[in-house]
Amino acid sequence: MSSIGAALNRRDIMKLVSAAMLPVMPGAAKGGSEHEAPRLGYRVFTVARPGLNRDVPPGKESLQWVANSSTLIYGEREAVLVDTFLTVEQSNGLADAIAASGKTLKAIYVTHAHGDHFFGLAILQRRFPGARALATPAVVERMKLQVTPEKLNDRWRKLFPNQISDVISVADPLEGNEIDLEGNKLVVVKIGHTDTDDSTCLHVPSIGLVAAGDAVYNGIHPFLNESNRKNRLEWIAALDKIDALKPSAVVAGHKIPGNDDSPRNVEETRQYLRDFIRLNDTTKTARELYDGMLELYPARANPGSLWSAAAAAKAET
Ligand SMILES: [Zn+2]
Repeated sequence: MSSIGAALNRRDIMKLVSAAMLPVMPGAAKGGSEHEAPRLGYRVFTVARPGLNRDVPPGKESLQWVANSSTLIYGEREAVLVDTFLTVEQSNGLADAIAASGKTLKAIYVTHAHGDHFFGLAILQRRFPGARALATPAVVERMKLQVTPEKLNDRWRKLFPNQISDVISVADPLEGNEIDLEGNKLVVVKIGHTDTDDSTCLHVPSIGLVAAGDAVYNGIHPFLNESNRKNRLEWIAALDKIDALKPSAVVAGHKIPGNDDSPRNVEETRQYLRDFIRLNDTTKTARELYDGMLELYPARANPGSLWSAAAAAKAET
């Protein structure tokens, strides 16, 4: 006989029963809504792949992978996707999952111009011809720079041979700052440099959701290759801007599959950046910086990202 069970009063039992009877809606918004638009829900898809930098000091082999996220925000009938996956196979799997949701995909919003977040656009648009690909004008211009033959063939196709779509498309520039989803606003927030310039995130005020793109990393080493002393501080300011939205859920562009989407990840990313800045100032070599960060963050996935970040930081003049 369990004393805990015996201590449950009738009200506790009713709470348990009503919780058990709630419909299963992953990520759905909780609580009442004051406006008449249908309540939105969201679902986060994740997929793992090898990291970009595979030349890593020995010792962390089991962590040499990274995972991308893609967020489906949906109403009663329609949905908007935030970011795509990288490879053909991953993008087909994502398309299957969207089709299975039964929602009509009306738009795909791309948060920033890194190939691992938009190389799936052409595949998704072939499956969902009514879906518009959208990004801010600045991100669209940067996407064009990512799809030059040099970038595509010399970098991405070499790292992922025969895995990247033959057809790569870029997004159309979004007019204004909002995408409407069944009367709910999805608001583009420009946050400047994060792991690349002109980054954005997508804020859904009605459900307190921020799809953060690569401003936030969840359990994975951030990509600091494009950062320098000045814009690492911009990245911290971007995180402050996300905090100011007071989100109840923050989806990181890269997250360990299964991790929650707590806003805590904003603070953890900020702490990581502060630690990197501090240790960069107190170490001489890339190896010292790498080892120092690994001591603080032994369990984060994709140490190759940290290794290349350390090399880039020490090469900075
Ligand atoms: Zn990324």
